[in-house]
Amino acid sequence: MNRKYRKTVIAGNWKMNKTPSETKEFMTQFKTIMPKGRWCDVALCVPAVCIPAAVRAMRETRVGIGAENVNANPSGAYTGEIAANMLVDAGCKYVIIGHSERRAMGETDADVNAKVLAALEAGLTPIMCCGESLEQREAGITEEWITMQIKLGLQGVSEEKIRKVIIAYEPIWAIGTGRTATPEQAQEVCENIRAVVRKLYSSKNARAISILYGGSMNEKNAYELLAQPDIDGGLIGGASLVPEKFVKIIEAANQPTV
Ligand code: PEP
Repeated sequence: MNRKYRKTVIAGNWKMNKTPSETKEFMTQFKTIMPKGRWCDVALCVPAVCIPAAVRAMRETRVGIGAENVNANPSGAYTGEIAANMLVDAGCKYVIIGHSERRAMGETDADVNAKVLAALEAGLTPIMCCGESLEQREAGITEEWITMQIKLGLQGVSEEKIRKVIIAYEPIWAIGTGRTATPEQAQEVCENIRAVVRKLYSSKNARAISILYGGSMNEKNAYELLAQPDIDGGLIGGASLVPEKFVKIIEAANQPTV
C-alpha cells in the first residue's frame, strides 16, 4: 500500500451467497464491529437482489455497495440483464467486472472492456479483474497474459477516467482454493500491472491507481499481502461473508505504511 499516492480499498465479493434477509442480518452485525478509522475505502459487492437491502443498511456509513456484474448496453431487449445506470439508481458505487468465474461462463476481454466503459460512463467505479490459470503460471506466461488482459480491458478508457478504475489481480488458482499467492508473487504481478498502466497512460496515473489482490485473502494472511508496496487492498470472497473476518482484513489495511 502507499496511502500517500492512492486509495486503499477492501472490497468483498459475495458471489452467489446470501439472501436479502441474510444481507440485512450481516449488515447489522457488521455495523456494530466496523473499525472507526478512515484509512481505507470499504466496498461490498453483493448479488443483485441484495443491493436494495445492502444500500438501505449502509446508507449512513462509509461502506459503498457494489454489484458483481453489469451489462454493457444502456437498455433494451436483454432479458435478465442489468444496465449500469440501473445500478447507480439502486445506490451502487462499484461493480466487479471480468471476474474469472464470469470469464469461465464465456465473458471475453472485449466484453470486459465494453462493461468497463459502460460503468465509467454511468459513474460507477469498475473493479476490473485479471488473473492467470495455474497452467499459464507454470508455463511462465503470467506477465504476458496479465499485460494482455489489462491492455484489452482498458481500451478506450481516457486519461481523465483511468484513475476511477480499480484493478484486481486474482490468480485463478488462488480463488476459493485456500491457496494464496505469496506476498512476493502477488507483489510481482501488481508491480507489473502498474508498469503497464504507466506505459499506457503516465507515471502520475500509474502511481494513483489502486491495484488489489484477490485469491483466498483472509484475516490471517491479509497483513503481509497488504504490506507490499503495489498491493493497495483486497478483493475478498469467502472471508467477506463473515463480519468478524472481513473486519479483521479492514484492520490489516489500517497498518502503518510509507
Ligand atoms: C473472489 O471471489 O474474488 C475471491 C478472491 O474469492 P476467495 O477470497 O474466496 O478466494
